[in-house]
Amino acid sequence: TDTDKGIVIPDNWPGYPLDLFTFPEHYSEDLDCVYIPHGVIMDRTERLARNIMEDLGDHDIVVLCVLKGGYQFCADLVDCIKVLCRNSNKTLPMRVDFIRLKSYLNDQSTPDLHIEGAENLSGLSGKNVLIVEAIVDTGKTMKTLLDHVEAFRPKMIKVAGLLVKRVPSGTGYLPDYVGFEISNRFVVGYALDYNEYFRDLNHICVISDRGKQKYKI
Ligand code: 5GP
Repeated sequence: TDTDKGIVIPDNWPGYPLDLFTFPEHYSEDLDCVYIPHGVIMDRTERLARNIMEDLGDHDIVVLCVLKGGYQFCADLVDCIKVLCRNSNKTLPMRVDFIRLKSYLNDQSTPDLHIEGAENLSGLSGKNVLIVEAIVDTGKTMKTLLDHVEAFRPKMIKVAGLLVKRVPSGTGYLPDYVGFEISNRFVVGYALDYNEYFRDLNHICVISDRGKQKYKI
């Protein structure tokens, strides 16, 4: 349907000028614009939590947070679900588990994907699993992860992705719950990094050429 892709941010969206918001001084030269302000991320997350409650309410779920980039979205999503649970008659008992993936160097996806913490997913067998990931780019990471998790025979797997990129080379994979569809630009902040920088930035921003140079490995 119309809402499957979440909030669609068009290619011509210039972002907001940095001066209209607050952000850490140490990144003042490293960003082009505020692409999605923190408050908008939170508002959208609140609605995703409601959708998840409506679909999965009264089941038990295991939330599988994909580190490191997914930690902020996962924490905020779980918080929103907790608020809904204590303010309604529906319940959604949750466990939280973590898995760590790494495939990026600088702003390029690399073919070798490392999964850490994957040995110990036997607890997912027979469970309803909600994978929480910050961003789906080509979709390769998600496909690898899904194959991996499926091997542990969960009862059901759903995926929540905060951001999905419009990429020509993409697999066309869409998470069950999507926050925003964005253009094919490298974004940072809200726990998304560039070589481990920018996780301490609250908004989702577009990195500047200068920022890319400065933090290049
Ligand atoms: P995919 O396998 O879908 O191409 O890549 C997904 C992974 O690449 C994400 O989990 C994330 O780590 C990284 N990634 C892709 N695009 C971006 C981006 O714009 N910014 C950041 N910080 N990471 C990205």
